Amino acid sequence: MKKSKLPMPAPLPASIPVPEARPPADMDLVAVPTGVNHRTAAYAYTGGSIFDKRDFHIGAALIKHPQGDLLVDSGFGRDIAKQIATMPRIFQKITKYDVWKTAADQLKAAGYDFGRLSGILLTHAHWDHMSGIPDFPGLPVLVSPRDRAAFYSHEMFGNFRGYFQQLPFNWRDLTFEGGPYLGFPRHHDVYGDGSIVCVPAPGHTPGSIIVFVTLPNQVRYALVGDLVWQREGLTRRLERPFLIRRLGDFDNEGNRQNILKMVSVMQRIPGLIVVPAHDQRAFAEMNQLPNVTTKGLILAAR
Ligand SMILES: [Zn+2]
Ligand SMILES: [Zn+2]
Repeated sequence: MKKSKLPMPAPLPASIPVPEARPPADMDLVAVPTGVNHRTAAYAYTGGSIFDKRDFHIGAALIKHPQGDLLVDSGFGRDIAKQIATMPRIFQKITKYDVWKTAADQLKAAGYDFGRLSGILLTHAHWDHMSGIPDFPGLPVLVSPRDRAAFYSHEMFGNFRGYFQQLPFNWRDLTFEGGPYLGFPRHHDVYGDGSIVCVPAPGHTPGSIIVFVTLPNQVRYALVGDLVWQREGLTRRLERPFLIRRLGDFDNEGNRQNILKMVSVMQRIPGLIVVPAHDQRAFAEMNQLPNVTTKGLILAAR
């Protein structure tokens, strides 16, 4: 299969500073894997092999912060079977998934204090990132206004039409009141300490975002949602295959530009841990919840 590669962008110019972050000492980032979607590398990036099995991570990341914990995306929820049944039949045929344990059930099993949770922060408003939201009734759902609007319109593919849209989500619009951040035009600094910063990165959906997290040890993560599906999308600059882009991405060119921006950021911050929402290897580089068995996921994939 012919491989098409994106050009290598220039690193961020030195005039764009790496933003300072002052994360509180007891901040943390914890993987909450809820299951997998069975895919192959051929589906994930251009030139990937159909024999290279890739179980796509479906889950959440828990950011612990003394001002309020945030769940980035929500993984599979308790109602996933009911939700999937609302999708087109062809989608149901080609979507083979395994639910391990929902985020709510895992947190409960880990003895987590739900009172600490202040919201679910969506990288974008697609079903596989939203399925678990109903398991946290009333919890604020932070989303970019463009994705919230798209969620209720017909341009958004795959959002459990007729199931989700009956639910009273407690939407909170993300505002991007801050100026340029690492080459992105605007940003939102969630707690004002630079530890959790969202930037708009439209393309996969109209309002997709990237979440930059800096931990007290100054290790930086970029939770890039579905900008790419596996790390090769960034490390080898291989886009999703053409047909998949045509079907699944809202704005192909916008997504491409944001991939190139992220590659520039990775050149500028060599230790940056990039976390595509569906790459198990990336979630292996976070802390794990105690006392939770999820088929040993990732540690094996490492
Ligand atoms: Zn998506
Ligand atoms: Zn997704």
